[in-house]
Amino acid sequence: MATATSRSTFDTGILALPLYEDHHRELAARLVTWCDRHRDVLVGTGPPEATCLRVLRALGAAGWLAFLDRRPDDYRALCLVREALAHVDDLADHAFAIQALAATPIRRFGTDEQRRRLLPGMAEGTLCGAFAVSEEAAGSDVAALTLDARETTDGWVLNGGKAWIANAGIADVYTVIARTGPGPGAFGLTAFLVPADTPGLHVEPVPMIAPRALGHLAFDDCVLPAEALLGRRGGGFPIAMEVLDRFRMTVGAAALGFARRAFDAALARARERPMLGGKLFDLPTVRATFADMDVRLDTSALLVARSAWEIDHGSPHYARHSAVAKLHATEAAQQIVDSAVQVFGAAGLVRDSLMERLYRQIRSLRIYEGSSEVQQAVIAAAIPADRTHREAS
Ligand SMILES: Cc1cc2nc3c(=O)[nH]c(=O)nc-3n(C[C@H](O)[C@H](O)[C@H](O)COP(=O)(O)OP(=O)(O)OC[C@H]3O[C@@H](n4cnc5c(N)ncnc54)[C@H](O)[C@@H]3O)c2cc1C
Repeated sequence: MATATSRSTFDTGILALPLYEDHHRELAARLVTWCDRHRDVLVGTGPPEATCLRVLRALGAAGWLAFLDRRPDDYRALCLVREALAHVDDLADHAFAIQALAATPIRRFGTDEQRRRLLPGMAEGTLCGAFAVSEEAAGSDVAALTLDARETTDGWVLNGGKAWIANAGIADVYTVIARTGPGPGAFGLTAFLVPADTPGLHVEPVPMIAPRALGHLAFDDCVLPAEALLGRRGGGFPIAMEVLDRFRMTVGAAALGFARRAFDAALARARERPMLGGKLFDLPTVRATFADMDVRLDTSALLVARSAWEIDHGSPHYARHSAVAKLHATEAAQQIVDSAVQVFGAAGLVRDSLMERLYRQIRSLRIYEGSSEVQQAVIAAAIPADRTHREAS
């Protein structure tokens, strides 16, 4: 296990393992340097919407989004970028992650024309995307979606709503999963690309405990051309599931970034805080707290690396292991941030202090892109009743 003193943006011991390649290690080093130099741009001040757009443009200009248009999938790289950005600021990670989430269905299921029209701008950070699946009455249960898409002679008309959509209000284009067939059920869902300026599309911003560009969408007779269809009719559920399966591990990577920052800040505090004639860090129970945090950081990093390696190598196990990584890393990060607040004592509760912000920011990771309970259900479903899953695979 790495020592408590060796934590920084990345754990170089884990990066040195054969789960990563030299270009990942070089990427990690470049990320650290770039994030240090661009801290002013990345750290959110002012309205989250403006911060997200500013960060997106900076990420695009620096080439961190170029993979959305050009390169083959590299989930270990994607995880490293999220980990580094989350280590700097919640909104920096948010801007990167939602853009990648929104571009992925277009990359994987879009026509040549759709890819040509949208991906270069998304890769430059000048065109902002969003991925709209959830509804107020259908969050975890995606098959229960009701947003209605009715076919007309020359296209589609959308009526209904979406809820909790990241980048609502700043996105230029929304990938929307709507119902085109009988429901409830997974087979009648279809994906559409909806430009933000479509008449009848309204955004209601929702203030969250950790400020971000997020809101509900209302579709009021939104007329779309036939070419708005993304993928095949009836293919909306697999598109949503595939994208979410792939991105789950990246949420774990972001959680790791938050957790490392909390760990480092708490360690610095414990080392300098006078206590009982020595320092807080001298106390055995406090050291034990850091040992627990350290183990959680290691296990999270290894689980994220495993699932990212698997998806990069086409392993059939990646979806289950992506769920394992998200479940473990987000729950662990919550515990690490809570322990770090405890180390700070009352100083950890001061409004807008680092600890207070981390405490608010980490919470949503256990809910979005599949709550912890949904991950448990995914993992449990893969365990056969009569054998261990290791024997079965
Ligand atoms: C910050 C943030 C950003 C988001 N961004 C987006 C976005 O960009 N696009 C988008 O489409 N959505 C987005 N969401 C919505 C998110 O995906 C949903 O909140 C999530 O899927 C949970 O749905 P819900 O909130 O309706 O909770 P519900 O589905 O109502 O769940 C409530 C509780 O029931 C539990 N539960 C549900 N199913 C099960 C089960 N099978 N077994 C056990 N327990 C269960 C859940 O774990 C949870 O504790 C975002 C949410 C947040 C907080």
